[in-house]
Amino acid sequence: MKNISIKFFIIFILLAFMGSLGMIFGEFFKEAKNSTEQLLEENIQSTVLNLKHFLNKNLKKHNINQITASLDNTINGNALIKDLHIVDEKNKKVIYATDRDTVMQHPDTKCIAISQIINADIFNEQCYSFSIKLFDKFEPYYYKSYVYLDKKYIDSLLQNQINKYTIMFIGYGLFFIIVIWLLLKKFLVNPLEKLRQFAYYQTNTPKEFFIQELESIRYSLNLTFKRLQKEQEELFNLSTKDSLSGLYNRLSLMEKIEWLIAKGERSNEQFALLFLDLDNFKNINDTQGHEFGDKILQHVSKILLDSVRENDIVSRLGGDEFVIILPELKSNETVLEVIKRIQTRLIEPVVFNTLSYSVTVSIGITIYPKDGRDATTLLKHADIAMYKAKALGKNNFHFFTDNLNEEIQNKIHMQYLIKEGIEKNYFQLYYQPKVDIKSNTIVGCEALIRLFDPLKGMIPPNQFISIAEESGLIVPLGEWIIKEAVQQIKSWKNTHFEHIKLSINVSGIQFQSPEFITFLKNNVSTIDTSKLDIELTESVLMNDFDEKFAKINAIKKLGISLSLDDFGTGYSSLSYLKQIPFDTIKIDKTFIDDLEEESGKSFVNMIVGIADDLNMQVVAEGVETKQQLDYLASIKCEQYQGYYCSKPLPADEFEKLFLSQECH
Ligand code: C2E
Ligand code: CA
Ligand code: CA
Repeated sequence: MKNISIKFFIIFILLAFMGSLGMIFGEFFKEAKNSTEQLLEENIQSTVLNLKHFLNKNLKKHNINQITASLDNTINGNALIKDLHIVDEKNKKVIYATDRDTVMQHPDTKCIAISQIINADIFNEQCYSFSIKLFDKFEPYYYKSYVYLDKKYIDSLLQNQINKYTIMFIGYGLFFIIVIWLLLKKFLVNPLEKLRQFAYYQTNTPKEFFIQELESIRYSLNLTFKRLQKEQEELFNLSTKDSLSGLYNRLSLMEKIEWLIAKGERSNEQFALLFLDLDNFKNINDTQGHEFGDKILQHVSKILLDSVRENDIVSRLGGDEFVIILPELKSNETVLEVIKRIQTRLIEPVVFNTLSYSVTVSIGITIYPKDGRDATTLLKHADIAMYKAKALGKNNFHFFTDNLNEEIQNKIHMQYLIKEGIEKNYFQLYYQPKVDIKSNTIVGCEALIRLFDPLKGMIPPNQFISIAEESGLIVPLGEWIIKEAVQQIKSWKNTHFEHIKLSINVSGIQFQSPEFITFLKNNVSTIDTSKLDIELTESVLMNDFDEKFAKINAIKKLGISLSLDDFGTGYSSLSYLKQIPFDTIKIDKTFIDDLEEESGKSFVNMIVGIADDLNMQVVAEGVETKQQLDYLASIKCEQYQGYYCSKPLPADEFEKLFLSQECH
C-alpha cells in the first residue's frame, strides 16, 4: 500500500469527520424541514379551511363588498395566502380579494380540490379550489373559490431553514476542523516532523513533547543517538588512534599527510616530517619488561604532544617509532626549536617503579615538497635520515639529503650483494704476510676478505664490513671466513706452509652472537688450532666484561691464540691488557705512520715495553718504509705487517711469496 503523510491522513480523517458532521446536520435538517413542512401544512390547511368556512357562512350576494374588505384583511394578514378569487358559475369574477395583479386562469386545472389538501404537496401545489353553496330565494347556486398560496413566502421559509443549517454546518464544522487541525498540528504533526528530522539528521534534539508516547520515542531516540555517537567515537578512536599512547596511528597519519600534500599543492605550503626512534628502547624492553617499556612509551608520547603546537600532528607508528608533522613550515628554525624542546624534556630523568630513567631519541627530518611529494617517500626518507642520526651517535637528528639517499641506496644494494655473495661465492680471502723482524722471515699471515662483484670487480672490506655488521650478515659471513681459513690451514698441513700461523678477523657482532663459540669449536676440531689466531678489536671488550671474558677463555681453551687488533685507536685500557690473556698486540697503522715524530716513537716504544712486560708479542701494522722497519727493529718489536713486505695476496701468490721469502 502506498503510504501517505500524516498531514494527508489527518486531512482525510477531518474530511471523514466533515462528512459525518454533514450527515448529522443533514438528518437534523431533514427533521427540521419535515416539522416545518408539517406546521406549514397544518397552517395552510386550517387557513384554507377557515376561509372556506368563513365564506360558506358569510358570503351573500348583497354583502360582496363587505366580504371583500374582510377577505382582503384576512389575506393581507396571512402571509401564506397570496390571493383569493371567487368566480360565479360562468367563471365571472365575483371577488378578487387582493389588488395583486396576478393573472389567474380560471378554471385552473392546476388547482386542486380542497378535499385533496391533506394529500397534496403544498410546496408544489399552490392553488386550491372549493365550491361555495349559495341560495337565491331558496334556489341554490354555486360560486367557485380559488385560493393561491404565496410560493415565494413558503419557499423562503424553507430556504431560511436551509441557510440556518448550512451556516451551522459550515460554521461549526470549520470551527471544529480548525481547532482539531491546530491541536493535531501542534501536538502530533509538528512533533512527528521534528522526530523525523531528528531521526534523520541526529542533530537539534527536540524539546520535551506533550504527548506521552511521542515523548518516550523522543527520549529513547535521544538516548540511542547519544550511545551511538559514543560508540562511533570509540570506534573512530580505535581505528585512528593508537591504543597505548592515544596518538594517531599509522593509518590516520598517512591520511593526514595525504591531506597536507593536497593542501600544499594548492597553497605551496611546506611541512616538516620528523621521524623519531627511541635510542636503546629494545634494551629497556628486554631488561625491564614490556610493562615498563609501555610506560616509557606513554611518557614519551606525552612529552611529544606537549612539545608541539596545537595543529601539529603527533603519531606513533608502532614500537618505539613516532612521527611528528609540523604543518605550515616557514623555516627550519621551527624544526630545530621543536627538536630542542623534545630533547630537553626527554633527557629529564623520570621515575617509574623506583627506577629513574631518561630517554633519548634519534630524529630524521624530511621537508615537503623538497624531500618527497608523497607520504611513503617522505616517511622512507625521514627513516633514512633517522638512521643516519642514529649512526652519528644517538640523541641526534639529521635532515634528509639526496646524498644520504644515495648512501642508503648503496647500502641496500651492498646488503643484497653480501647476501648473494655468500650464496654464490663472491668472497675470497687474501693473505698478508706477518714478518718476523729479527730473522726477516714470513711466519704468519692475516686473512683479509675481498668481495668480487660480478659487475664492479673487487670491493675492499671497508666498503662492506660495517654494512654486514649493521644488517647482521656479518654472522654468516664470519662463519664463511672461519670455514675458509680452516680449509686453508688444512690444505697447508704436511706442506711447506705447515708452520704458518693464520690470523682471522672476528667482528664484535659475530663474537657476541651466542652460537659463536659452538660454531668455532665444531669447525676447528679437524685442525691444529695452534695454527689459528683470532684478531679482536678493543671495542669488542666493552660492556658485559664477564661474559666476554668467559668467551675469550673458551677460545683460548680451544688452543687458538688471540690478538688485540688496532691497539691504541679505541678505548685502550691498560687494565684490559693485564686481565685478558691476549697473545699478541697489534699496533695500529696510525702510530706507525707517526714514527717520524718523536711522540709517535715514544708511544710505539711504550707499547712494545708493556707487551714485553706482559709477555705478549707485538705486531706493527702498516709498515711501508725501511725507516719504519729499522726503527721497529731497533726497539725489538717482533713482527710487522705492511706493504713494505707485501699487500694482501690471493692464497697461491702468498704461497709463492712465502716460498721465496722475498718480501719486496
Ligand atoms: P685490519 O684488520 O686492521 O686489517 C689491516 C688493514 O690494513 C687491511 O686492509 C690491510 O690491507 C691494510 N694494510 C696492511 N698493510 C698496509 C700498509 O702498509 N699500508 C696501508 N695503507 N694499508 C695496509 P683491508 O684488507 O682493506 O681491511 C680493512 C679492514 O677490514 C680490516 O682492518 C678489518 O678490520 C676489516 N676486515 C678485513 N678482512 C676482514 C675479515 O675477514 N673479517 C673481518 N671481520 N673484518 C675484516
Ligand atoms: Ca686485523
Ligand atoms: Ca689492524
